Amino acid sequence: MNTRNVKAFGTEAALKPLTDLTIGRREVEPQDVEIEILYCGICHSDLHSVHNDWGDTIYPVVPGHEIVGRITRVGSGVTKFKVGELAGVGCIVDSCRECEHCHEGEEQFCDKGWTAVFNSPDKKHGGVTYGGFSESIVVDENYVVHIPETLDLPGAAPILCAGITVYSPLKHWGAGPGKQIGIIGIGGLGHMAIKIAKAMGARVTVFTTSQAKADDARHLGADEVVLSTDANQMAACPKQDMILDTVSAKHDVNVYLNLLKVDGSLVIVGLPNEPLEVGAFNVVNGRKSFAGSNIGGIAETQEVIDFCAKHHITADIELINIQDVNEAFERLEKGQVKYRFVIDMASLK
Ligand code: NAP
Ligand code: ZN
Ligand code: ZN
Repeated sequence: MNTRNVKAFGTEAALKPLTDLTIGRREVEPQDVEIEILYCGICHSDLHSVHNDWGDTIYPVVPGHEIVGRITRVGSGVTKFKVGELAGVGCIVDSCRECEHCHEGEEQFCDKGWTAVFNSPDKKHGGVTYGGFSESIVVDENYVVHIPETLDLPGAAPILCAGITVYSPLKHWGAGPGKQIGIIGIGGLGHMAIKIAKAMGARVTVFTTSQAKADDARHLGADEVVLSTDANQMAACPKQDMILDTVSAKHDVNVYLNLLKVDGSLVIVGLPNEPLEVGAFNVVNGRKSFAGSNIGGIAETQEVIDFCAKHHITADIELINIQDVNEAFERLEKGQVKYRFVIDMASLK
């Protein structure tokens, strides 16, 4: 396979800082588009991967899966994109395209396993995929979405993971008028969930461990804010139809099961590396569900991009240069980002 060298930022080991790397990108094949990466968000999953929290990291790793850029080349068979257009790439860059889930546009549940934009063995081309902390990327057009020119580009990048990851379960569990939706954790996912659930018409309760974020949560659209470390505030909290849990570390989910209405659902999207314990009594009483959700398919990713454009939703971001990424990871680890770091990829040049 022909490749060309491009600049990237990544690391060779779990405890080493990220630094300049050179990686090979494949030459554009008939179905491929080449994208000059303009902005890339930093998700907590990038941090989990760099640290090998989930035990599956293949080094060197080049993270980044909230990619917004411009098309610079198109393959001979490309029909959906033209050179010069904006484009977005999220977590998924390939799947089997044949199973029932791929046919239904839920590539995230592909029977054969989907190919992630980084840290994933590339079944078709060999080697391992490298993500968005790089100057360009080559992706099959079927796994690329359109980004409207009206969206603020750095603020739009986090929609490609944080946005779709919360939009998909909010829609699936029926967030909308008359529904009481709880959001746990005001980070990258959580702050997008507040905005999206409000735009869907739901009443939103936010649970945070950070008193300093409580006022922000109201500005982001929350109707109620509960400091989850305060037992009195938790006891006074109204019962919820669905609670979306975006917490990145081990925590007690049983206190939230107890805040659900009868038939309510606690839906996990956060991915702590340790198991979460569920007391049987906490789900049996009230016929409650303890559920999960994983990103979203390509069609739904386009849907959330269009939804956000329509409702003027972008992420609240801190724009950084790639050279500041190690410091950004340290702050992300401590939950000290308001509310998503996005890298200005021009700084890599
Ligand atoms: P983030 O920006 O770091 O936000 C996580 C938030 O969780 C923090 O801001 C904090 O909110 C809260 N938190 C952190 N540690 C906590 C603790 N020990 N106890 C209670 N609350 C705590 O991370 P993110 O990028 O939003 O990602 C969140 C999680 O979702 C990560 O595990 C990530 O890997 C995962 N994820 C999953 C999917 C999926 O498809 N399922 C997709 C993307 C990301 P407060 O300060 O408000 O308490
Ligand atoms: Zn992510
Ligand atoms: Zn499939």
